[in-house]
Amino acid sequence: MTYEKSIAAFTEAKKVMPGGVNSPVRAFKSVNMDPIFMASGKGATITDIDGNTYIDYVLSWGPLILGHAHPEVVAAIQKTAESGTSFGAPTLLETELAELVIKRVPSIEMVRMVSSGTEATMSALRVARGYTGRSKILKFEGCYHGHADSLLIKAGSGVATLGLPDSPGVPDSVAKNTITVPYNDLESIRLAFQEFGDDIAAVIVEPVAGNMGVVPPNPGFLQELRNLTTENGTVLIFDEVMTGFRVGYHCAQGYYGVTPDMTCLGKVIGGGLPVGAFGGKREIMQQVAPSGSIYQAGTLSGNPLAMTAGLETLSRLDESSYDTFIERGDQLEAGFRAAAEKYNIPHTVNRAGSMIGFFFTNEPVVDFATAKTSDTDLFADYYRLMAEEGIYLPPSQFEGMFLSTAHTEEQIAKTVEAFHTVFAKLAR
Ligand code: PMP
Repeated sequence: MTYEKSIAAFTEAKKVMPGGVNSPVRAFKSVNMDPIFMASGKGATITDIDGNTYIDYVLSWGPLILGHAHPEVVAAIQKTAESGTSFGAPTLLETELAELVIKRVPSIEMVRMVSSGTEATMSALRVARGYTGRSKILKFEGCYHGHADSLLIKAGSGVATLGLPDSPGVPDSVAKNTITVPYNDLESIRLAFQEFGDDIAAVIVEPVAGNMGVVPPNPGFLQELRNLTTENGTVLIFDEVMTGFRVGYHCAQGYYGVTPDMTCLGKVIGGGLPVGAFGGKREIMQQVAPSGSIYQAGTLSGNPLAMTAGLETLSRLDESSYDTFIERGDQLEAGFRAAAEKYNIPHTVNRAGSMIGFFFTNEPVVDFATAKTSDTDLFADYYRLMAEEGIYLPPSQFEGMFLSTAHTEEQIAKTVEAFHTVFAKLAR
C-alpha cells in the first residue's frame, strides 16, 4: 500500500490551510503519519486518492449510519437540488424533519435546525442561560461539545489529542463560568451544586461520552444528573450530537430511560450533510426568537439538501437496525478480545449501540483520567498497521469507531483477521 498521492496532496494543502486541514484531528498527528486523502466511498468502504480501499469505521465521524453514498439518499438529494439549493425562506422539508425528530426523541417537543453540532450546543447554552437567568454551566472532563468559547475548557476530542487543555483565545471571563468535573463522578457534581447550585444554568453531558474514546455512563449516573438538576432548577442538556440515533432508535435518552430538558443533535440527523439541531421542552424552546427574546439565527439553517439527507437517513432506520449494530459489535468485540488476548496486548472494550471503543489498557475506562491510561504509542502503531491491512479507523485513541447498516459480517470478519495480523506484529 502506498500513500504517495496523499503525501503530495498534504504538502500542497499545508500551503493554503492551517495544518493542511479544515478540522484538526484530520491531520493524523497523534498517529504519526500524514493524513490519507479520500476520493470516494460506497457502503462501508472508502477509497483514497492512491486507489487504496478500506473498510471504514469512521463514517465521517459518525453521520453516515447507512454507509457512504446510499443510493436512495443520493437520489433524494439530487432531486431536491434540481429544485434549488437554498431559499432562506421556510420549506415543507423543515417541518417534516422537525416532526420526525420530535417523534423519535423523547425530550424534544420543539426543535430548531442549525448547521453544525457546535452551533447546536452553543445555542442550547444561550437558551439555558436566558431561560434561567443564570451564568454558569457544568461540563465533564473529556467531553467535547464543539468549539464554542465556553465549551473549550478541558475539552476532549482534538484538543485532548493535541494535548491542549484549553485553547488560547478563550477569555478568562468566559472560562470562569464553566465548571468541569470528572465524568461518572457523582460526588464532584454534588459538591459543585453545593457551591454554585443557584448559579448553574445548565449541565451539559454526552450521555455516552464519545470524545475520549467510548465511555458509557455508570448505572444511575444519568438519572442522578436528572435528579440534581431538577432539584437545583438547572437545565439538563444531553449533547446527543454523536449518540443521537446511534445508541438507540430513540437516542441515548430512550436507551437509558432518562429524559433531559434539552437535547443537541448533529451528525446522523444530517445524513452526511451539514446539520445540527437543538430542542427540548416547549416552555424552554418558546423563549427562542422570534417567539421569544433569546436570539439565534442562520442563513443556511434548515437547508433543503441537508433536510432531505436527514429525512432519508432517519426514515431508513428502524428498531431492528440497532439489533444488527449489537450483533456486528459483538462479533467485532469478540474478535478484538481474542486477538488481543492471544498476543497479550493490554485492552479494554467499551460499547454503546453502534459506538465501539478499544483502549490499550487493562484498566476499566470510566472517565478521562482512566482513558488516558491507554498506551497511545501502541495505538499509533496499531493504527498504521490496520490501515495497511485496509481498515480505516479514527486516527486517535480518544475517538470511537462507528458501525453503519452497510457493514457486513464478512467485513467484520476481515477486520478481525486484521486484528490478528497486526497484533502478531505488535507483539514481536
Ligand atoms: N458534540 C459532540 C458530542 C460531538 O461529538 C461533536 C463533534 N464531534 C460536536 C458536539 C460538535 O459538532 P460539529 O463538529 O458538527 O460542530
